[in-house]
Amino acid sequence: MRPFRYTRPDSPQAAIEAFAAAGAGARYIAGGTTLYDLMKLSIESPPHLIDVTAIRGLDAIETGGERLRFGAMAPMSAVATDRTVLRDYPVLAESLSKAASQQLRNMATVGGNLFQRTRCLYFRNGAGGTSAGTTYPCNKREPGAGCAAIDGLDRGQAVLGQSASCTAVSPGDWPVALVALDAHVEILGATGTRSLPVADLYRLPGSTPHLEFTLAPGEIVTAIVVPKTRAGRRSTYHKIRDRESYAFALASAAVAIDMDGDVVRQARIALGGVATRPWRAAAAEAALAGQRLTAESALAAGRAALTGATPGRHNRFKIDLAARTVADALMIAAQRTAA
Ligand code: SF4
Repeated sequence: MRPFRYTRPDSPQAAIEAFAAAGAGARYIAGGTTLYDLMKLSIESPPHLIDVTAIRGLDAIETGGERLRFGAMAPMSAVATDRTVLRDYPVLAESLSKAASQQLRNMATVGGNLFQRTRCLYFRNGAGGTSAGTTYPCNKREPGAGCAAIDGLDRGQAVLGQSASCTAVSPGDWPVALVALDAHVEILGATGTRSLPVADLYRLPGSTPHLEFTLAPGEIVTAIVVPKTRAGRRSTYHKIRDRESYAFALASAAVAIDMDGDVVRQARIALGGVATRPWRAAAAEAALAGQRLTAESALAAGRAALTGATPGRHNRFKIDLAARTVADALMIAAQRTAA
């Protein structure tokens, strides 16, 4: 790890000013569960860290009124165990409780979790290289270097949204659930505040996979806002992985459905583990609208969710796995009692 400067402002405005004064390459840090890890691997070497953990008032969880609002500094574990979230929006609670370990969920914040970076094996073999001394080319780590994953071990890579420059999967669970529920983030920057759909925080890799997020330099997410929906109670986050805890998704589905009897009024579906950003499955939602929910229609929707999927050499299995994950999630959600 390289030396870095460290500042701990006590208000959002002071954080913005500290970032501007720190110059190029500065990074905000909260729980630190991703960034410190990447710094120790020499994948990131920010010259200046702006620690936002001394800022008060950014960790509130508000569940009354017409929306849910989570301060960006709220710990993942606090939101995952909030009684209203558990009862009315199980998809949100489950996406958090199935991520990482309890210790990490206690440290990590719901705002910081939006900016988790990929677990691509080749990306994480950073400047320090492997024990054999190899450093793999990675366009995300070093623009223009090439992509070792494309001709390498691509079992865990994306089948949706990838490019000739990068096939890395977006690793988060929480952002997938938020995208399914049309959540927004509140953002503070040097020129004021703005609101942005969570889905629009994430870029496709295209030819610039090192540019992952759409925030401008110095902007900070202060809160996450989720509109209330009738579909909330009939929702689930279904995550399939190599082991049942402390593992990233091979495929996951965030699903919320509003039903009239056994007919789907509206379905909200997003995929994780298979795409380069949280992936809203509009074709699957359209396939279900007005249809009876059966095992067959659920699987048809799952297959529609994977429309356009393109496998690499070792990850073709993900297409069928993800379709069945969506189908299972729909059937699980349908069993839950509506509000
Ligand atoms: Fe790097 Fe992306 Fe290629 Fe992985 S898939 S090695 S993150 S460029």
